[in-house]
Amino acid sequence: MLAVDGGAPIRAGRAWPVWPQYDAGTERALLAALRSSRWSVSWYAPDGGKSRERRFAEEFARYTGAAYGVSVDHGSSALVIALEALGVGPGDEVIVPALTWVAPATAVLRVGALPVLVDVDPGTGCLTADHVRDALSERTRAVIAVHLACTAAPVDELAALAGETGVALIEDCSQAHGTRWNGSALGTFGDIGVFSLGAAKTLAAGEAGAAVTDDPALYRRMLMLRADSRGYLADAPRPGEYELVEDCEIMGGNYCMSELTAGVLLDQLPRLDTQHAHRAVRAGELEAGLAARAGLGAIPVPAQVDRRAVYEFGIRFEPGVFGAAPVERVAAALTAELGTKVYPPRPPLHRSALLRPRTKARFARIWDDASTSGRTFAGADHYREHTLLLHHSVLLGERGDIDDLLAALDKVRAAYSPRGAAPEQKVAV
Ligand SMILES: *Cc1c(COP(=O)(O)O)cnc(C)c1O
Repeated sequence: MLAVDGGAPIRAGRAWPVWPQYDAGTERALLAALRSSRWSVSWYAPDGGKSRERRFAEEFARYTGAAYGVSVDHGSSALVIALEALGVGPGDEVIVPALTWVAPATAVLRVGALPVLVDVDPGTGCLTADHVRDALSERTRAVIAVHLACTAAPVDELAALAGETGVALIEDCSQAHGTRWNGSALGTFGDIGVFSLGAAKTLAAGEAGAAVTDDPALYRRMLMLRADSRGYLADAPRPGEYELVEDCEIMGGNYCMSELTAGVLLDQLPRLDTQHAHRAVRAGELEAGLAARAGLGAIPVPAQVDRRAVYEFGIRFEPGVFGAAPVERVAAALTAELGTKVYPPRPPLHRSALLRPRTKARFARIWDDASTSGRTFAGADHYREHTLLLHHSVLLGERGDIDDLLAALDKVRAAYSPRGAAPEQKVAV
């Protein structure tokens, strides 16, 4: 009997890896930031030297291979300053994938532009150049491509299309820190790469974000846009000196990252690649197990990806593999077997409870109901109905964890599709 119906679960009493991970080194880094008395880049430097948020921005840019990095308080803020730095504003349209966290659409509204939802590839859940081309209008100023879950949008094609059409490309890499495409990090193909560093992400600091770019003008603008119009001193501040100077080339808001947060990130960043390598081993085992089971597989990864970061591991299943059970029911049954959360992707944005522009006067003025109502996003819907997600922390443990996952899939499948028939055979019955 399935655990969800009161049976014995596949796994009981053995914990899964905890996320986020920290140790005595993280505690020392946080305490050092606390004791520095310099809790904000906006505060003076009692002992002189660069702020932690500036050092993190430099380290993170180096990690991605980009020329410049900017630290911010959230991934959402990184999206906002990226759009503002590119000059996107009222009257403009920005192409956003229908399948993603709500922030890319919200950020477009926050700068006064209209998010235009576009369907995605049903296999990867990501935008393709064809989808973008079909949605271009004279008002399109930018595309936000999201590298979703554990795979990558086709950045070379998207960058080529952006170049041809003069539309800006922002890569939202909040789910793909450190993924490499033909040797280069995601986030370096478009004009600006943005990253969330929220608690769930593979590089986590609770509430934080970053943007990277190779363009010095975009860098300067993003610095001021996130620090109330202030940029940095050219050199590190001397003891007692302020690091921010009132350059005021472009008016900003305050989206600065706290020094305590930056202290945590400076500790976490050097661990990221080791964690990616650990997850890659588990992901490979899981992929092999899925490939050996008819009707099951992993979310495809383009061949150009030579190092992939898993934020959420995606298991895809063909229609009928779990009988007539909808994805929510399959996910709940697996969760009960495993004692760790297995979940479907969020609903596409046109059906999302989180995208409600009519509830805020300044968004209601911009919003056009025609951009969602009555429209269908077949690729996004297919991905949503046939994908099961696991948080990346599930891949930070041992081989036995993967055996449990596969055993739970077999058990739930046997219960929901009793004949265990391959989907092709089921269709023929
Ligand atoms: C997490 C996430 C964000 C938002 O980042 P915050 O740091 O929570 O503001 C934006 N885009 C994507 C794709 C995300 O996954």
